[in-house]
Amino acid sequence: MNTTITPEVAPECCSGPALMAPQQAWALLQRRVRALTETEPCALHAATGRTLARPVRALAQVPPFANSAMDGYAIGPDVTAHDCLNVVGRALAGHPWGGTLKAGEAVRIMTGAPVPAGTHAVVMQEHVAVDGERILLEYHPEAGQNIRPAGDDVQAGQALLTPGEVIGAAQIGLLAAAGVATVTVYRRPRIALLSTGDELREPGQPLGAGQIYDTNRALLHSLLHTLPVEITDFGILPDDPAILAKTLTEAAAGHDLILSSGGVSVGDTDHTRQVLERLGDIGFWKLSIKPGKPLAFGQLDQAWFFGLPGNPVSALVTAYLFMLPALRQLAGQGWHQPPQYSARATAPFRKKPGRTDYQRARLNRSVNGHLLVSPCGPQGSHQLSVLATANAFAVLPGAAGSIPEGDLVTVLPFPQTLTGLAL
Ligand code: AMP
Ligand code: MG
Repeated sequence: MNTTITPEVAPECCSGPALMAPQQAWALLQRRVRALTETEPCALHAATGRTLARPVRALAQVPPFANSAMDGYAIGPDVTAHDCLNVVGRALAGHPWGGTLKAGEAVRIMTGAPVPAGTHAVVMQEHVAVDGERILLEYHPEAGQNIRPAGDDVQAGQALLTPGEVIGAAQIGLLAAAGVATVTVYRRPRIALLSTGDELREPGQPLGAGQIYDTNRALLHSLLHTLPVEITDFGILPDDPAILAKTLTEAAAGHDLILSSGGVSVGDTDHTRQVLERLGDIGFWKLSIKPGKPLAFGQLDQAWFFGLPGNPVSALVTAYLFMLPALRQLAGQGWHQPPQYSARATAPFRKKPGRTDYQRARLNRSVNGHLLVSPCGPQGSHQLSVLATANAFAVLPGAAGSIPEGDLVTVLPFPQTLTGLAL
């Protein structure tokens, strides 16, 4: 599946020779990580969130027959305003009236019922006066009025969806309407998820001296939960290079992507990068971004490896910016990076020149609809409480120092998978 990675180091890196610019890391991921080749059939009811691997064509036209857009009367040919027409039948959704309308005739018709042969137009019931079995027209209806022609939404055989599209409610509706019951999708990428650190305990357990709760596995699980992936939870691994090597080797055998956190920095117990270096290939492991400088990306046998930094905000930023686009490409969706916008700073953003800073920020709209962005408080990479009040990253360029109030700032709004806080 994958090709060997040649380590790449950015010559133009801005704070230290070994830091890779984020643009270079994205280019490397886009180039290296290819879509899985295996596909599988998928029933429509189970296809939400899956990635289409084959084009889909309509099996039926939509609507399948000309039908009424209103509750009212189908009126026969040669009609003029103020005509009085005889009501000769009733057409309901699922119950056509089988005759042919002649001049001077009308049929009571409900929304979705097939329009009878000979129909000139459908007139809303609000626009006629009813007198027993006769109706009086208020005006002369245009030909075809309130009729939805057969096939005016979709033609039989029409191309509906193309490979790489993610199937959502709109696509499911379109496929169902066009009679498609099964689609071919890419198989779900298999992800091995783990945390590393002697200090980590599961939430819900008592904490001993020096221990903290494993935050990253829960956070990453949540980040991934709407994606078409299969996750194997490898739990918490101790800071033991032998155990790490054994587990990573085992995980590489059955997974497309290994997602680990912690141990990628330069501390005495940071073994992840060395183990990856020994067992596989490193693509990059130091990026010119803040937070998230020590992000290790590489390959272990057939599996891609992302070693995220241990601090939870760093883990989230790097997972969101680098792991997710790679994963989407692996899943067959092509290369997509988060959409970015421009917003005006309502207060200064503090920063030292150096790395590109992804600050946690709050995005709002002014009364006249312009985007405004405000800093969210302390920016420590361990400060999840600040992250939880943010709804966007403010992207502050590497070379820039502090950004004054009133300047335009690039922002990445959080998707719903990151926060429930609406813009
Ligand atoms: P490391 O990258 O392993 O040196 O970890 C950097 C910081 O992140 C340390 O303060 C760790 O205790 C913390 N950390 C590492 N992994 C996790 C995790 N899964 N959940 C919460 N904090 C973590
Ligand atoms: Mg650690």
